[in-house]
Amino acid sequence: MRKNTSLCSGLSFLLALFLAVPAVWAQAPAKPSAAKVLQDLKKLNVLGSVLYVAAHPDDENTRLIAYFANEKLYNTGYLAVTRGDGGQNLIGPEIREGLGLIRTQELLQARRTDGGKQFFTRANDFGFSKNPEETFTIWDKEQVLSDMVYVIRKFRPDVMVTRFPPDARAGHGHHSASAILAEEAFDAAADPKRFPEQLKFVDVWQPKRLLWNTGIWSFGSQAEFDKYVNELLKIDVGVYNPLLGKSYGEIAAESRSMHKSQGFGSSGSRGTALEYLKYTKGDKASKELFEGINTTWSRVKGGERVEKLIQKAIDTYSPAAPATVVPTLIAAKKELDKLPEGYWKRVKQEELQDVLQEAMGLYIEVTANDYAATPGQPVTLKVEAINRSAVPVSLQSIRYSFASSDTTLNKQLPNNKPFTYSATVTLPQGMPYSQPYWLRKAGTVGMFAVENQQEVGMPENAPAAQATFTLQVSDQPLQLSVPVVYKRTDPVEGEVYRPFVVTPPVFVNLLESVYMFASQEPKQVQVLVKSGKDNVTGNVQLQLPQGWRAEPASVPFDLKTKGAEQPATFTVYPPQGQQEAVLKAVASVSGKNYTQGLHVINYSHIPAQVTLPEATAKIVKLELQKNGQNVGYVMGAGDEIPISLQQIGYNVTLLKEEDMRLSRLQQFDAIILGVRAYNTVDRLRFYQPALLDYVKNGGNLIVQYNTNHNLVLPNIAPYPLQLSRDRVTVEDADVRLLQPNHPVLNTPNKITAKDFEGWVQERGLYFPNEWSNEYQAILSSNDPGEPAREGGLLIAPYGKGNYIYTGYSWFRELPAGVPGAYRLFANLISLGQHTAPAATSSKNSGQK
Ligand SMILES: [Zn+2]
Repeated sequence: MRKNTSLCSGLSFLLALFLAVPAVWAQAPAKPSAAKVLQDLKKLNVLGSVLYVAAHPDDENTRLIAYFANEKLYNTGYLAVTRGDGGQNLIGPEIREGLGLIRTQELLQARRTDGGKQFFTRANDFGFSKNPEETFTIWDKEQVLSDMVYVIRKFRPDVMVTRFPPDARAGHGHHSASAILAEEAFDAAADPKRFPEQLKFVDVWQPKRLLWNTGIWSFGSQAEFDKYVNELLKIDVGVYNPLLGKSYGEIAAESRSMHKSQGFGSSGSRGTALEYLKYTKGDKASKELFEGINTTWSRVKGGERVEKLIQKAIDTYSPAAPATVVPTLIAAKKELDKLPEGYWKRVKQEELQDVLQEAMGLYIEVTANDYAATPGQPVTLKVEAINRSAVPVSLQSIRYSFASSDTTLNKQLPNNKPFTYSATVTLPQGMPYSQPYWLRKAGTVGMFAVENQQEVGMPENAPAAQATFTLQVSDQPLQLSVPVVYKRTDPVEGEVYRPFVVTPPVFVNLLESVYMFASQEPKQVQVLVKSGKDNVTGNVQLQLPQGWRAEPASVPFDLKTKGAEQPATFTVYPPQGQQEAVLKAVASVSGKNYTQGLHVINYSHIPAQVTLPEATAKIVKLELQKNGQNVGYVMGAGDEIPISLQQIGYNVTLLKEEDMRLSRLQQFDAIILGVRAYNTVDRLRFYQPALLDYVKNGGNLIVQYNTNHNLVLPNIAPYPLQLSRDRVTVEDADVRLLQPNHPVLNTPNKITAKDFEGWVQERGLYFPNEWSNEYQAILSSNDPGEPAREGGLLIAPYGKGNYIYTGYSWFRELPAGVPGAYRLFANLISLGQHTAPAATSSKNSGQK
């Protein structure tokens, strides 16, 4: 992790913030070793930059990034088009925005490890997409392109590298889209007629060349690859860096292992390892990636004087006494400050300030007495500054980003004598809340809404509060900025840092995001009111649309201390008929309304994250009948279906080891296996006989999607069934009823086309593509231009019961409150409850 510095020049302050991306957001102050100081010294004499482009967090080649950043010492960036909101989460319950936030932080940790900088666009990862045409119907292509252009114009890469080709070999529509956009942005960034509104903040920029970081994987076979290998640029990235004590393969593994939510733990590699780059656009390079690109100080007019002094610092550097280079670095800083304003001047001023601080062992930190505070409230800040060198340093003043004046100190910082200082400051009333900038306004399925052009591309918000230290080092003024952070000592983890955030004075949290009303029965809706400061009193109420009613109309609350909570329970009465609507919780305090909740995401591998989601929930009145009452559930990879079923009145039991015998299973009207149960629950291979006996005895077993990779047993069904990768990704793709008279489409709910309206993200995934005659295929659907996929809902009578295999995305639709999905899922559970199981002789045999 690195500290943050910023420039004093007002003109370049915003650019400086942008450039300092990985530094600004690290929470704990850096503690660089002497080897790292030398590494950073050497980087001061390299003026080259490279931008890697792909679609998701985890797409990036961390080995190549680590090599560019640490071996070639280029300014190295990774532009991930999305934050990975649409993926799965292996470490916790967060999905969508919450997952995007986790994966953003995982990327930042990865970059802190491999030395790169991180950028994003406003595109939202809406889930799997088969091709770029589909992707661009959901993303606003022009907006995403604009964001990519903005990042290029700001970061000014000499070379751009894509992870993917612009075609089907990329394997995912977002992947090919990222390459298509990179090719267009490569030209557009240099064209003043494209996105001229950005030119207020940035200049046009033409990268020298664009290449595709390819490999054998994209050529299909070694033989095919060998045909083209001579046309590819090769880089041996398996180099060992003795200053870091690691090879780039080892650094890459550490970086990749940060993608913990994706289960991407990796082991390091040592020794020669080739990366291949295929020419796409711009000037062709015959041997070297940076051929024809000047990466020395001679690319800046007058830069030679800086270069010479930096070289002197490198040549005279002694790891046992890093501070001896400080006078030379100060001389270099003076020369650098004299250069005309420009991109490289700003970048190197930043870096030079960092190296000066590192060489002196100068540690500065500002911690708040709590991790959160509200506008208008006092915060106690503790400053620690210590110079661990013989270089004369004085701390002249500190300025807080939210304060109007400086705090004058004029303190000498003698060698290894800590200076501490504590002050209580009041946050201004108008201070903005720390909601991640891309979540402040509602966006669309495909795009986040970001209004401030200067926030575009940034991985996260600028710190809520910063402290800028004005120092005198020898005879030179130096300004260093650090974020205000919160620090505590955990008995197990030790020192734990987290960002300081600004929040509303009161939070309203709804306990569920969806409330399903399966009948005219009223339901209890609980609001948890929590205070963001001491002594908050007011009342909370529910805002409901016409036809809905809540009792009581409002509930008073009185919260004496910051962090106190008080539940408020309302009884909500639904209207007649089927209806979907939105409920909102509102807290009123002294005539002001507050509608945001508090959501904290806490994992040990990333800094704790806070979001302030609007306290809204979907309320759905369903026309729903159901037979059967008791459901047993075997949790697979993790889904929220049990809660969804409870919401519509089922008794759901999460099954444990001791339940997995026939005598226990028989009490259930249906047994449901959670998503990817046969991929994740090793013991299912022992439970399987009891589950099949349960069906034979008249039970109803519902198996949700599994992948055919790593199944815990070879035959997951009583009759042959072949899983495939067939999926229907278009969420409103037509669904055809193949067996309109089958009970599952009629009892107790009559299923019609209307029940397939309003589905989210996709229809389904990993449908079987072959099955034996015992199964009946009930539904058929497909993406545009693809053959009918009929394996999404298969039912086979087995003994006296029914075996159901279904790849439709119930795990997305039920938690999202999709009425039709509930009606059909209730039919699956009800199958065979009061009617005889279907056993017609007209069977659909498998195709393909
Ligand atoms: Zn990807």
